[in-house]
Amino acid sequence: QNDIPSTDNRGFKGHDMLAPFTAGWQSSDVDPLIIEKSEGSYVYDIKGRKYLDTLAGLWCTALGGNEPRLVDAATKQLNTLPFYHSFWNRTTKPSLDLAKELLDMFTANKMAKAFFTNSGSEANDTQVKLVWYYNNALGRPNKKKFIARAKAYHGSTLISASLTGLPALHQKFDLPAPFVLHTDCPHYWRYHLPGETEEEFSTRLAKNLEDLVLKEGPETIAAFIAEPVMGAGGVIPPPATYFDKIQAVVKKYDILFIADEVICAFGRLGTMFGCDKYNIKPDLVSLAKALSSAYMPIGAVLVSPEVSDVIYAQSNKLGSFSHGFTYSGHPVSCAVALEALKIYKERNMVEKVNRISPKFQEGLKAFSDSPIVGEIRGTGLILATEFADNKSPNDPFPPEWGIGAYFGAQCEKNGMLVRVAGDTIMMSPPFIVTPEEVDELISIYGKALKETEKRVEE
Ligand code: PLP
Repeated sequence: QNDIPSTDNRGFKGHDMLAPFTAGWQSSDVDPLIIEKSEGSYVYDIKGRKYLDTLAGLWCTALGGNEPRLVDAATKQLNTLPFYHSFWNRTTKPSLDLAKELLDMFTANKMAKAFFTNSGSEANDTQVKLVWYYNNALGRPNKKKFIARAKAYHGSTLISASLTGLPALHQKFDLPAPFVLHTDCPHYWRYHLPGETEEEFSTRLAKNLEDLVLKEGPETIAAFIAEPVMGAGGVIPPPATYFDKIQAVVKKYDILFIADEVICAFGRLGTMFGCDKYNIKPDLVSLAKALSSAYMPIGAVLVSPEVSDVIYAQSNKLGSFSHGFTYSGHPVSCAVALEALKIYKERNMVEKVNRISPKFQEGLKAFSDSPIVGEIRGTGLILATEFADNKSPNDPFPPEWGIGAYFGAQCEKNGMLVRVAGDTIMMSPPFIVTPEEVDELISIYGKALKETEKRVEE
């Protein structure tokens, strides 16, 4: 199921999360694109070339490249209290205020506590420890296994990479960890059976999940983790009724639901959270990226009262939940995140995304007829194009043709950056993208597509 090959448009071999590593080690045959400056939806390289940044950095600079209020919030906090920690019942005002704000904002299910990390990976690692502690507190230490999905992306640390369902993050690292299982990727176009409707496909996947739970023993399964829309695995929105059916299984066997909202939160899908869009009622939520519009590193975990009450009630017996990072609740990151949340609300960012996203989605989906396009899929301000021969998921182009990489290079030549993963191209422009910029995006996409069609014909 995990068949996204990995070659990006700059010739790096390997998953993009290895790129920083590769950059450190790379030999002179790779010429890195060095970004120097950002402005709105654009970034500039050191040679002064301007690019429309259609991935918003790494799905994260939701407010674009030069939001002065975020810079001011950071500066003000740096001048007042650049650092204090959040250990041993000490904390800072920005950290407390941000926790309160997030708990108020998340309404898909009641959340009682927030815990801060520096990244999405750390948020997901924290989830595993919370869930284990919770089950230990309930006297069921064998309920330890996690079910994630093929093609999910949950991070790069040992445990979050284990939850991830992409082989590049497992191979040669002895991952996934043995307590992590993977179930089906809900990609209807690729995996549905002949004649199967989306709903029937969802029913089959829920049945497969239930079969896996029963095979392992429900008393051993602690939690299920999912992104509302899969991001880095290829932008895969769930098929109709998928989350209803999956949640019914999870509930039936007393399995916690962790929503990984690292990409989907704060308006990306046209709702404040991905859970709002698909009626997901999670027990735990992971956040990062747009939480601070990426101006400072920060991640967060939200915990439902049911889970946090057990943890608090039992902490006398078990000892406190001994987990935390020096920079958990870093006051500068929290001050910037608070300002970002304020801006999302003041500027009605969810509404703004809903106004612009039809132009973005329909404008790009109009290219679906291209003979080299297999599928264009997405919702809100997130979209992927998957190239395929005969428009069929079963006929990928030979990887050595480098079709995705060629398309990415054409975009770059025309002043636009996209995410390339094999023959899948991904985009998630900043929420502030303007109609004129969407026109430009569509026009460059069209040019790159024409060039790529010619290349396939040759
Ligand atoms: N979860 C999801 C859904 C992500 O997309 C990512 C990063 O892309 C992560 C977790 C990991 O976040 P980070 O890179 O901040 O560790």
